Amino acid sequence: MRRWIPSALVFLAAMVGGHVAARLAGPEPAAASNAVAESAPSAAEVRRWLMGGNALFATGEAVPTDIDPIRRASIAAGQTPWCTVLTCADSRVPPEHLFDAGLGRVFTVRVAGNIAEPVTIGSVEYAAEHLHTPLIMVLGHERCGAVTAALSPKSLGPNLDALLGYIRPGIAGIDDLDEAIRANVNAQLASLRKSAVLAELEAEGKISFLGAVYDLDTGLVTPLDSGGHVAAAAGHGHDHGGVAHAEADAGHAASTH
Ligand SMILES: [Zn+2]
Repeated sequence: MRRWIPSALVFLAAMVGGHVAARLAGPEPAAASNAVAESAPSAAEVRRWLMGGNALFATGEAVPTDIDPIRRASIAAGQTPWCTVLTCADSRVPPEHLFDAGLGRVFTVRVAGNIAEPVTIGSVEYAAEHLHTPLIMVLGHERCGAVTAALSPKSLGPNLDALLGYIRPGIAGIDDLDEAIRANVNAQLASLRKSAVLAELEAEGKISFLGAVYDLDTGLVTPLDSGGHVAAAAGHGHDHGGVAHAEADAGHAASTH
């Protein structure tokens, strides 16, 4: 075992090193250390970082980093996450995996249908106001069961009906599930923006909102402001190495701003 462990560690270090190098080749936020007091990157930088990680995830190139005991210890005393993600509780949509993000990077708020209602809005307000996450993403996903249920007027009992009540107004008049999923993301974004706390932070330029949809088949997250569609993979280069991912994504992001 003693002879095996060092070689395994060397291999692991090489893998992780290559991974980090690929990810860093993009406009990685300046904070490369794991220190608690690392400076917060801009919303645009965080967006590129997330999309770069998603490209690695989608192609199976992601090598989980920042989930080791060293990272865990370095942030045990406090967190400075880079983004807030309001997404569905669906077991296939864990944002930390989709974005290849380690401990302490994503302030995740999950509830079926990624709905913005008082409790989840309060969670997002906490992250924005007190943890200073510059980017707030609402992430819907393909074949969402909650949105599917909301498309039907059928009652599912008082608790589920209460949940669906936060989806139905935003998808009124829509029959197509994919379209409803996108409309729901936009409706939840609109609800977040009704928060006085979040509206003020946005007006001050301290936070940015982003809607996106996750494709269960390709593994890709597509921002809605890029004309994203549930099944669309346009704009993501996923046949190339990490550097190409980052460059493709940087160009993709630049073309949508
Ligand atoms: Zn869902």
